[in-house]
Amino acid sequence: MQSSSIQFYNTLTREKERFVPIESGRVKMYTCGPTVYDYVHIGNLRSFLFEDVLKRWLEYRGFQVVHVMNLTDVDDRTIKASRTQGIQLKKYTEQFIKAFFEDIEALNLERATDYPKATDNIPEMVALVKKLLEKGYAYRGEDGSVYFNISKFKDYGKLAKIQVGDLKPGARVNVDDYAKEEASDFVLWKAWDKDDGDVYWETEVGKGRPGWHIECSAMSMKYLGETFDIHCGGVDNLFPHHENEIAQSESATGKKFVNYWLHNEWLLVEGKKMAKRLHNYYTLKDLTSKGYDPIAIRYLMMSVHYRQQINFTFEGLEAAQKTLDRLRNFVHRLLEASGKPAGDKLKQLVEGVQKGFESAMDDDLNISVALAHLFDFVRDANNLLDTGEVSKEEGREVYGLMLRFDEALSVIGQVKKTEELSKEAMELVRKREEARKAKDWKAADEIRDQLRAMGVIVEDTAQGVKWRIEKR
Ligand SMILES: [Zn+2]
Repeated sequence: MQSSSIQFYNTLTREKERFVPIESGRVKMYTCGPTVYDYVHIGNLRSFLFEDVLKRWLEYRGFQVVHVMNLTDVDDRTIKASRTQGIQLKKYTEQFIKAFFEDIEALNLERATDYPKATDNIPEMVALVKKLLEKGYAYRGEDGSVYFNISKFKDYGKLAKIQVGDLKPGARVNVDDYAKEEASDFVLWKAWDKDDGDVYWETEVGKGRPGWHIECSAMSMKYLGETFDIHCGGVDNLFPHHENEIAQSESATGKKFVNYWLHNEWLLVEGKKMAKRLHNYYTLKDLTSKGYDPIAIRYLMMSVHYRQQINFTFEGLEAAQKTLDRLRNFVHRLLEASGKPAGDKLKQLVEGVQKGFESAMDDDLNISVALAHLFDFVRDANNLLDTGEVSKEEGREVYGLMLRFDEALSVIGQVKKTEELSKEAMELVRKREEARKAKDWKAADEIRDQLRAMGVIVEDTAQGVKWRIEKR
C-alpha cells in the first residue's frame, strides 16, 4: 500500500503529523464511549460523529480499521443514578445502552468492531491494578482504595501540558472527574462503601469497584494491544481521563500507550454551553421528535472542523437540511442525465473536486474545505446539466464519484437507485437462513440485528425471507 498522505493534529505533540500506522494498512483505534447513566446528548454525539468521519476517511484511504468503543456501565455517575432510582445497576444501564445503539443507527455511524462493557472486563482491570501495585506506581490509602502515585510517573502531565511540580504532593482524589487545577493521585480501585450498595466485586485487590480511568486503559489494551495507533475523545476527556490513561498504561507496560491523540472541541447550543438548567440541552430524540431528519443533524455536526467549536442552532439545522436536499437533488439529476457529452469541461471539474476534496480531508480532516470544494463542483456541474451538457455515461460516472465521497460523508446514501446488498450483507442473510433452518433462533435474531445496523431490514414472510434497504 502507498504511504499515507494523511496528517493529523496530535494533541500529544501539539503538531500536525503525517499518519503512519504501526502495522501497514491496518489502524487500531480506541474511542471513549458513552457513560450510560442517561441518554447521550448532542454534545456526546458530536464526538461520535467526528470519530465516524475519521474512521470512514481512513477506510476511504484503504486502511482496515479496528475500532473499539467502550461502554462505561459502572462509575460514580451510573451508580449514583441507579441508586437514586432504586433500580439495579445492570438493569438501569441497559436501557441507555439500547438507546445509544438506536442513536448511532439513526445517525449512520459505522459500527465499531467491539463495544466492551466495563462490567464485563473487571478481571483485566484488577490485573492492571495489581501490576501497578507490584511495580510501585500505586499504593493503598487508609480508606482501603488503591491510588496511582503521580509523582512516580515522570511523564505525568505530558498530554494536558501541566507540571507535576505545581501539584500538592500526597493530595488525592477518589472521584472520577476533577479539574486540571486539582491534579493529584487518583483512584484506581475504589474500596466498597455504603453508597455503592450492591455494586462491588470481591477481587484480589479488595472488595470494591474500578475507577473510571482504569476501565479505558484495561479495555483498550485488551482489545488493541499495549501500543496502538489512535485514541480519540472530546476535549473534556483530555484531563484527567486521558492523562490518567497514559499514566496507568505506560507505567504498567513501560511502552508508549498511543501514537496519535485526537480531540474534538465542544458543541455549543445557541452560543452557550449546553446545560439542563439552561433549557438548551438536547438528545437526538428531542430533535427527531420535532421532525428533524437525523441525517441533517449528522451533516450539521460534521460539517464543522472537529477542532473548532460548533454552535448548534435550529437555523443552522434547517440550513443543513436544505444543503442536504441540494446534494440529493443533484445526485438524482445525475442519474437522469441524457444530454450531449460535456467532455473535457466536466473532466476538469471532476479532477478538480477529487483533488480538492481528498487533499482537504487528508489535511487533518478539514471537512469544511472539503465540502466547499464539493459544493463548488455541484454548482458548476448543475450549470452543465441546465444547458443539457451531461451525457448518460458522464452522469453515471459523476454519480459514482458522489457515492465514493459518500463513503466518507454518509449523507446521500438513500438515493441509491439499485437495491443491491453488499457482499457482507448477502453473506449474513445466507447465514441467518442457515441458523433458521437449524432452529437456532437466537443466532438468527442476532444476525437480524447485525443486518439492521447495516441498514438492511429482513422480514420473514409466508413467501419466504424478504429484505429491503432501509430508507434513511
Ligand atoms: Zn475513556
